[in-house]
Amino acid sequence: MAKIELRNVSKRWGSFIGVDSFDLTIEDREFLVLLGPSGCGKTTTMRMIAGLEDATEGEIWIGDRKVNDLDPKDRDVAMVFQSYGLYPNLNVYENIRFPLRVRKVPEGEHDERVRRASAMVELDDFLHRKPAELSGGQRQRVALARAIVRRPAVFLMDEPLSNLDAKLRVSTRAQIKNLSHELKVTTVYVTHDQIEAMTLADRVVVMKKGVVQQVGTPTEIYDNPANTFVAGFIGSPAMNLMDGTVTGGVFQGRDVRIGGLDHADGDVTLGFRAEDASVAGPGEEAQIAAKLYTIELLGDAVMLTVRAGGALVSVKAPKDFRAEIGEPVGFVVPTECCHLYDRKSGERTG
Ligand code: ATP
Repeated sequence: MAKIELRNVSKRWGSFIGVDSFDLTIEDREFLVLLGPSGCGKTTTMRMIAGLEDATEGEIWIGDRKVNDLDPKDRDVAMVFQSYGLYPNLNVYENIRFPLRVRKVPEGEHDERVRRASAMVELDDFLHRKPAELSGGQRQRVALARAIVRRPAVFLMDEPLSNLDAKLRVSTRAQIKNLSHELKVTTVYVTHDQIEAMTLADRVVVMKKGVVQQVGTPTEIYDNPANTFVAGFIGSPAMNLMDGTVTGGVFQGRDVRIGGLDHADGDVTLGFRAEDASVAGPGEEAQIAAKLYTIELLGDAVMLTVRAGGALVSVKAPKDFRAEIGEPVGFVVPTECCHLYDRKSGERTG
């Protein structure tokens, strides 16, 4: 069992708070992704789990052991970084074998374990090569195999795909997902890339300035962002956000008027996703009055960017949509697809 518990964990440097009261149980075998913009405290959180950084406050438990005072090597975690950290003088076989030697695993077990780990990441044919003779993707797979070979209780991965080109990122991402499933190891994965987070995670933790904003499955976070920060961070494109006021169930903002909302009167931010809005049909009253800014072909549909309420808004439309740039276009959004947030605090209110 390798459940990880972070009990009100904080990290401070002087008066600066890098991570603020992080409180979460990561279940055994769960794939948890820490997601947020640069500097939000994801890496620091992971480094505290690894033991590379002391927690200023709070307790960290791995399995049934409190690990705050344990050295990194005694925590039974394996880390994979964006820089691969391979030994240039050792070939692939010896690089993968290295942790077994350090940990004094009986020699007789080495060969089988190295071969099994390298087969899992499809490196069987490269065992004799030095790191310099490998592509970036192959080097990252050596780093993965070196983590796998140890059979740790926990994998910690810090942006392991960020040095790979777009295509390799997608294939290596799929491989990591598959491996974590096969190996059934609790994994904490750090990224600032929300697509990576949504495709890999069992649960995502969205962070901002050291503070957890939301914890949930990718679907929960996509469908019900807890605040405007999460709404504006998750999704490609992110949720459209427009300020306005609700009076008697009617949202009124610049260029927008949507009635039939079940929401108290007050200043709010309206959120809706590109795929939830549609072009107003003939004779249908438009709720959003916009002007076309650009059209991008997605393949099976088009993404319209329009100007409304002084901002750019994304709307998905059928690929046979036709209009000229600058032309007025009206849209509708079903009330059940409207997300409402308190304008001041940004917290979800409806
Ligand atoms: P990135 O995606 O850029 O790696 P991150 O979310 O992983 O960002 P962290 O590396 O955890 O962010 O850093 C969180 C905050 O703590 C940042 O504002 C950073 O400047 C600060 N920080 C990190 N290490 C130290 C340190 N040793 N002393 C002071 N501040 C630090």
